[in-house]
Amino acid sequence: MAAVPSASERIPVFGNYIDGAWAEGSSGATFDNVNPADTRDIVGRFQASGAEDGRRAVAAAAAAFDGWRAMPPGKRAAILVQAAAYLEANAARFAEELTREEGKSLGLAKDEFLRSAQTLRFYAVEAQTLGGETYPNDDPAMLVYGQREPLGVVTVISPWNFPVSIPARKIAPALATGNTVVFKPSSDAPLSGLRLVEAFVEAGIPKGVLNLVTGGAGQVGPAIVEAPEVRAISFTGSTAAGRQIHKSVDITTRTQMELGGKNPLIVMEDADLDLAVDLTVKGGFSLSGQACTGTSRVLVVPQVRAAYTEKLLARVRGLKVGSGMTPGMDLGPLATRKQLETVLSYIEIGKAEARLLIGGERLTDGDFAHGYYVAPAVFADVTQDMRIAREEIFGPVIAIIEAADYADAIAKANDTEYGLAAAIVTRNPVYMHRFPLDIQAGTVKINRTTTGNLVNAPFGGVKQSSTSTFRESGRAGLEFYTQIKTVYRGV
Ligand code: NAD
Repeated sequence: MAAVPSASERIPVFGNYIDGAWAEGSSGATFDNVNPADTRDIVGRFQASGAEDGRRAVAAAAAAFDGWRAMPPGKRAAILVQAAAYLEANAARFAEELTREEGKSLGLAKDEFLRSAQTLRFYAVEAQTLGGETYPNDDPAMLVYGQREPLGVVTVISPWNFPVSIPARKIAPALATGNTVVFKPSSDAPLSGLRLVEAFVEAGIPKGVLNLVTGGAGQVGPAIVEAPEVRAISFTGSTAAGRQIHKSVDITTRTQMELGGKNPLIVMEDADLDLAVDLTVKGGFSLSGQACTGTSRVLVVPQVRAAYTEKLLARVRGLKVGSGMTPGMDLGPLATRKQLETVLSYIEIGKAEARLLIGGERLTDGDFAHGYYVAPAVFADVTQDMRIAREEIFGPVIAIIEAADYADAIAKANDTEYGLAAAIVTRNPVYMHRFPLDIQAGTVKINRTTTGNLVNAPFGGVKQSSTSTFRESGRAGLEFYTQIKTVYRGV
């Protein structure tokens, strides 16, 4: 199994999974995975792997490639389906671990495991329907067709905010199409990703096909990013890290980078304001604002600005902050100390440049004493030049920006380096029609939250939010992991 309790402290210690075996990292050093709701709780101890471990994982994946690509697609699919069943059967237990390592509510954590299982099931079927095309030509004795082939070794690198569903939507299409994988989860929430690997192991995945290496980006990163055997990298994380990885690879390596956002919600004069408030709270404060598609800017027109702001404040006053283990909480802790410090520093920046209407203080009393809790914050009188209007904060902070009209709202919404998700609240069919045409975002919502995307629909951003290569998720998510060989067959 993946974990053995350490004799002294009863903290479970988790290994890497390389070439079909759970094992210590080469240095023997470990790092602790800490519960952000109560930092006295150590969720687990993980391998602080180094370059040697990364190299071994890549070598194992390369050695396993020919066997895995030759396995009939139906058999590969059966392994995905079995792994999905394992995640479903253990979802309640794994959800508790996810809540302890990342901070989100138990309900959201369980949904995330079930959604990951759904992703595996989706790709088990969908990959079996991904074929090539035949091309008409003038020679009646020749058949010309495109044959889809897997790429080879794929490196998957994921963040902490969706520690199982993001790796699932990368690993499942990679494996289903015949690639082998080296996976490095975030050191801030490595256990849920490890459970995903465990699901594949329990489902009987052959050795070397899926390898897990935990550890710091600086130590493991180059070995699993720059190795010549690595033919593709699917990364989700910050724009800075994505840009660095993208630059460090050769032209033979495909990259798919899902990066940051500064997602706007536009509230028009005809909006249902209760809905607008609901979408602001769900989009901006669920996951404590730590969704890449989270709402961070609200662009509101003058006719409804005061009424919207008043209703929003009434809702925010009633929000409950607490541990994800406690039912009925609206916001949990921030996921890491670094995130806490970043959010608190943006609150100070915001106070100096705009008007703080509510929240923003660190919560430290009673049950909050050992966690990374911040009260949800709303700023008003925010203008385009301010840092809180431009930079990704990744916390429970909403900036209200006044927009003169629809055209001004679009101009301001688009005035950002990012382009991940955007939403509008309106009853006007003209705005509904114009918005998807005018807005620069990969995910566009009308009367829905900026957050959330379907397993069977493409997902990704524009501008600095994604590389302009391949979409993740849905059928489009398979494209990244295959390439087309064109065959001209005469008789
Ligand atoms: P991060 O960039 O710090 O780390 C993400 C992962 O990359 C971690 O596993 C980290 O160890 C690894 N990493 C970082 N630099 C690396 C390097 N040079 N080589 C190899 N690996 C490296 O991001 P984070 O703090 O974990 O996550 C928050 C960020 O992720 C936010 O910016 C958020 O917007 C973004 N995000 C984007 C999406 C999306 O789909 N667009 C989804 C979730 C999160």
